[in-house]
Amino acid sequence: MYASIIDSSTLAPALVVGGGPAGLAAALCLAKNGVPVKIIEKGKTPEVRARGTGLWPRTMEVFANLGVVDPFLRNGLPVNQMRAYASNGYDVLKTWDFYAIDEPTPTSPYARALLNPQDSTEAFLRDALEKYGIHVEFGTEFVDFEQDESGVTVKLLSHSSEPPVSETFRASWLLGSDGGKSAVRKRLGASFLGESENLGPMAIFGDFEMENLDRGFWHVWGNMETSQALILPLSTPPSKRWQIIFMGKNIRASESLMHGDLPVIQDMINRTTGRNDLIITKAYGLTVWSPNIRMVNAFSKDRVFLIGDAAHAHPPTGAQGMNSSVQDAHNLGWKLALVHKKLASESFLSTYNTERLPVIAEMLNLTKEISHMFRKGDADAASEDKSPPKGWTRSNKLNMMGLHCHWSPIVVDERTLFTEGGPVDVYGTAGGILRAGDRAPSAPGLVDIATQDAETTLFGLFGPAHHTALVFSSQDGDVESALLQELDAYNAIAPKDLSPLVLPVLLLPSSFQRHAAKAPAPDSIVRKLVDRDGIARGAYDIQQDDGLWVVIVRPDGVVGGIVRGSEGIKKYFSRIFNTSN
Ligand SMILES: Cc1cc2nc3c(=O)[nH]c(=O)nc-3n(C[C@H](O)[C@H](O)[C@H](O)COP(=O)(O)OP(=O)(O)OC[C@H]3O[C@@H](n4cnc5c(N)ncnc54)[C@H](O)[C@@H]3O)c2cc1C
Repeated sequence: MYASIIDSSTLAPALVVGGGPAGLAAALCLAKNGVPVKIIEKGKTPEVRARGTGLWPRTMEVFANLGVVDPFLRNGLPVNQMRAYASNGYDVLKTWDFYAIDEPTPTSPYARALLNPQDSTEAFLRDALEKYGIHVEFGTEFVDFEQDESGVTVKLLSHSSEPPVSETFRASWLLGSDGGKSAVRKRLGASFLGESENLGPMAIFGDFEMENLDRGFWHVWGNMETSQALILPLSTPPSKRWQIIFMGKNIRASESLMHGDLPVIQDMINRTTGRNDLIITKAYGLTVWSPNIRMVNAFSKDRVFLIGDAAHAHPPTGAQGMNSSVQDAHNLGWKLALVHKKLASESFLSTYNTERLPVIAEMLNLTKEISHMFRKGDADAASEDKSPPKGWTRSNKLNMMGLHCHWSPIVVDERTLFTEGGPVDVYGTAGGILRAGDRAPSAPGLVDIATQDAETTLFGLFGPAHHTALVFSSQDGDVESALLQELDAYNAIAPKDLSPLVLPVLLLPSSFQRHAAKAPAPDSIVRKLVDRDGIARGAYDIQQDDGLWVVIVRPDGVVGGIVRGSEGIKKYFSRIFNTSN
């Protein structure tokens, strides 16, 4: 079967299997951490398919953290209003908000959800990776692996020539981001428990260019008893791309439809919408979604990790899949980088599992709950009832901004104690004081004491390869200097060629008198900033008379520690680094 055997005995740090959103985000996160990556993709060329189109604010923050948010802001469409039509296809029965619009705020600058086709998301991530000299190796398929104490030996098949060529590749770590049918998961022998039947009717997702519909809305016709069509815009104009979802008992995935025959697709659109003016000019492809809701019981085994759909299958209702996949990658990337550099112990990697498992389990519950609404008829849009159909409204919970890991063994909170065994609302509830394990908010208006003109934001300080330690104090005295020095000292454990592990930042109130500042040492990375508008203090719930607090933000933009001082700092970093300070 194989033309020849190429035996490559190089030990690369990480091999990422699968060039979808999870694999690309993981590779980018590792690259940003200075860890060389090889990323392979079975497909010979990038697939043009909309699939995961909804990008929630938390994912946009992940992209901002990875330095790749700008193309998404340029290309993504912030559309949230839905329109349902009468049976004549043209009369608008009702218009409503599919989800409540959250406008950007100083602490949540990416608060608006965006629509962007998944192929374009993947292209933006690939572009960002190429800046690190990392190119997705298309046409290379993962076949098998063996792992031992020092690495993973992987068998690959290169389809770039005919017949395909077998290769052996050895890496320290293997990341299986090869989607729902993951060969890595199967080879790992990981369980994939859940349910596949009786979860509601099938849906067909299509991706088209189409004329004559207003791109300012999601449009819906029909009901689940017979047929329903949802049409939503993708990307900003001049793009004419739309995603169309056909659902309901009368929907059949005929061979000619799935083959993408334009007249057959056109006929399906005409029948499900009752209109004849929605003209398809190009079809990118159709996919059948069959109910399948599953997840692994562990995201890793020794040197092999599962991320994204390789670890979880879920309904598209709620648009959580790709978002969760990118967030898996972000959670794992910085941890794996620290362990690879021997700055954290291998046992630290178990926190990927501890932090993500409950989140994914809840994601499955939420998306399943929504998919059940379709079965129960709660998504029938074409009723005379003027209220929005329950199945076509989404709670703000799904924007993922409340996701947290309060229970994580590596977060330290000296302000709000975590109650072991107590109820945990994984997707978070609005309100309440900021806690360790929550997403770390941004804040603008941070003015550098040294230069006075350089203004930055907290998001501008955070990054995927370092912790940012925010010392909130009203003065720049000896206690503050000692804490900043203690934080900076962690940088001594990293080899000189690595970027800093900890960025120490003194955040002073606007009342602070500049002349009272102590100048940092000339080569110090310590930043001293005035929180000019008090937005940072507000976002982190720190009042001026609260005394000194240190908030440690992890590389993945999660609050890792909220501590009073030196003891808390030591406690936090003793759970991260394997070298005592
Ligand atoms: C129709 C539809 C609509 C959706 N809508 C949304 C939405 O709005 N929002 C959302 O968040 N999610 C949505 N999702 C889910 C989303 O598409 C997935 O969750 C997402 O693609 C997962 O990313 P991934 O990188 O884990 O896997 P994938 O995107 O599946 O990528 C896996 C990659 O691995 C490659 N691969 C597979 N096997 C091998 C191998 N042996 N060797 C090498 N490479 C291999 C595959 O070719 C593929 O490119 C939708 C899904 C569908 C089908």
